[in-house]
Amino acid sequence: MKFGNPLAAALVITAATVLIVSYALHQPHESALLIIIVYIATIIFLSITVYFVSKMYSKHKSSVDPEDFIGICEDLNTEIAIWSDDFSLIIMNKKLRDLIGVDYEKYDKKEALFTAFGLKKENGADIKNFTQSTSYESSFRNPSGSVSIMWSTSLVKKIKKRSFFLSTGFNLTELKKMKNNLASANDFFKSSMELAEIGLLMSSDKKKFVASPEAVRMLNLKNGTIDISVLRSMIHPNDRIHFERAVKYVDANGNVNSIQMQIKSSSGSYHWYNFRYKSIKGTPNTAAVFGGALLDITQEHEKDIMIERLAYIDEVTEIANRNKLMAAGQELYDTCNVLGHSYWIIVLDIDRFHIVNDTCGYDNGNYILKNFAHILYKFVTPGGIAARISGDNFALILKDYGDDDLPSRTARSIQEEFAKLAVDDFEAINLSCSAGFSKMPQDGNSFLDVMEHAEFALKSANGSQNTIIGYEPSMHDSIIGRSELEKALALAIKNNELQLFYQPKIDLKTGKIMGVEALIRWIKPDGTIIKPDSFVPIAESSHLIGKISEFVLSEGCRQNKLWQKMGYPNIVMSINFTSTDFYQTDLKEKVLESLAKSKLDPKWLEVELTETLALSDIDFAVSQMNKLRELGVKLAMDDFGTGYSSLSYLQILPITLLKLDRSFITDIQNDNIAFEIVSAVIRIAKSKKIETIAEGIENKEQEEILRQAGCDYGQGYLYGKPMPAEKMNEFFEENAKIK
Ligand code: C2E
Ligand code: MG
Ligand code: MG
Repeated sequence: MKFGNPLAAALVITAATVLIVSYALHQPHESALLIIIVYIATIIFLSITVYFVSKMYSKHKSSVDPEDFIGICEDLNTEIAIWSDDFSLIIMNKKLRDLIGVDYEKYDKKEALFTAFGLKKENGADIKNFTQSTSYESSFRNPSGSVSIMWSTSLVKKIKKRSFFLSTGFNLTELKKMKNNLASANDFFKSSMELAEIGLLMSSDKKKFVASPEAVRMLNLKNGTIDISVLRSMIHPNDRIHFERAVKYVDANGNVNSIQMQIKSSSGSYHWYNFRYKSIKGTPNTAAVFGGALLDITQEHEKDIMIERLAYIDEVTEIANRNKLMAAGQELYDTCNVLGHSYWIIVLDIDRFHIVNDTCGYDNGNYILKNFAHILYKFVTPGGIAARISGDNFALILKDYGDDDLPSRTARSIQEEFAKLAVDDFEAINLSCSAGFSKMPQDGNSFLDVMEHAEFALKSANGSQNTIIGYEPSMHDSIIGRSELEKALALAIKNNELQLFYQPKIDLKTGKIMGVEALIRWIKPDGTIIKPDSFVPIAESSHLIGKISEFVLSEGCRQNKLWQKMGYPNIVMSINFTSTDFYQTDLKEKVLESLAKSKLDPKWLEVELTETLALSDIDFAVSQMNKLRELGVKLAMDDFGTGYSSLSYLQILPITLLKLDRSFITDIQNDNIAFEIVSAVIRIAKSKKIETIAEGIENKEQEEILRQAGCDYGQGYLYGKPMPAEKMNEFFEENAKIK
């Protein structure tokens, strides 16, 4: 507000003076003088009053106005400073004082102002810059940390040459902190994604995807956006449909779903990714978003494949294993009923594989298995499968197209191809296989059923080689009988129902006992005696033979040693070995163990082997025989004349005794040819220093002919049938009486 312009006051006073003077001049002299005196007195009085009032006002204006202003500013919830450009006036409200954190009274106000404004010193340029910019950010430190203020300054008054400014601050400290926190949260998020190797793909229109930095790295993208068409082209053709479906049919309720797909990497190879995705509903302010997290699961996938390989692939042959066959087979079985298809199941077994495996070594055994698998594989037709079920058992599933001869024809072709396979250094081995087959769904209520029936058919060949047999329901009973017998035999072994009978061997020159042959019997609890021909072949095919042979070996040694201890003459104990026993690599150790346990001198033990057994792999047989011979154990060739009967083998095999088969002896008195053969064999054996024994001597006539022919020993009902050990005691007693 303005008080008293001097010019206006002068004009007013002059006008008033002119008016009063002209009025007074029209009055009588005394009155005019009085008027003028009163007027002058009034002017003087007014001037004095105006002077004092204006003086009072100006005093009031310079001290009271800012104070009021301070009063208003003091409690404002924002930082305020009023200052003059010569810094003679500096007012800071409480908010600002507290922020600077100084004792306002003690602090140099100018310094405090400069701190608040973030100005280093009283620099005209700085201050000009500060006052001219509409907003100026300053930062300083107070006792509780760093402070940031955005200042807005305006000129509020210019008095004479002094300018007065009002600066209003906006405290950015908390905002800055939030921003920093946000930035670090963003960094944290980014690092988490990076560490967890999770890439994000988000899209609001399902056309363009925004890729997180990790997704850019994973997929080797050029930048952070990718077009759906480009993304689609990077996905493996097999998996595109899953991705399309994910995008199209994403659950509108925001539930999370996931798919696994292969996406091409920068190297051009595909990586497996798990894509967990969802849709986020839009709001009036935000668009709906479809997006998901990508996780590279290539390694896990490879592990799964490995596990599947281990679970479903046969390690040796690298074709499907039994698990795979069963799973795939049951699937096919189920489609049979639905689609009206039918399939042949051929089960194949490599004949005498255990001999091949034992004699040729595992490497050659595996070589044969692998090649057999490859042969089999050639015959797989679409929709079929070839698998190794166990050991030397394989299976082939073929789709049936109404040709009933297909399984036999295929099995025959496999046999022919297999026969051509020559194993290095073992050309002498005849490779053959047998097959059983059945048809599904006709031959069983499940795939397992049908396969078991094909196995029944195979088993019904009962050891004969190179056979191909189709399943017939009648086989069922005999096979069941056979497997029941197996179970019963296993139990019999456990319950010690097996017993050795002994049949004497006689020196034809003296009539004295020179040995016994241990022949096994199964004596059932009711006393029924079962002969070895009925259970030894079953024991051999079901691997029970190992247990039986262990028993025969140890019991034979123990009994012979017992007879020696009882004072009976020393005799040779002969035991029979099957090929399974004979080709065991630890044969020598097992024999040695029984001898050591019984303390029987090895020369009183003899092992009987058949020709067929010895000749299936002559080299290995000779090495096994030599091992036994080294121990001092005797070796007899059993049933001589029934097998390959090549006398030349007598040159090679380190045998000590030749057992002429009973078939030559039965009619030797009438059969000239038999007689000639027996005589010739005896002569040749003698020349090789091999002793001879004739089996099955039932009468004196036969005995006499054989003695004449030079046969050393005889065995047969004429001297005694196989008998239990106690009966043998009596035999010894009787035999001792012979002079
Ligand atoms: P093998 O080794 O040729 O045994 C001789 C077989 O001829 C015995 O039959 C015996 O009782 C029979 N035999 C002996 N003398 C005469 C005779 O004068 N007339 C007639 N008709 N037969 C006679 P067994 O005891 O039934 O044994 C049959 C076959 O079973 C044996 O033939 C042998 O190959 C096998 N075997 C017997 N015991 C065992 C054993 O402990 N282990 C193995 N692996 N095989 C055995
Ligand atoms: Mg024998
Ligand atoms: Mg025999």
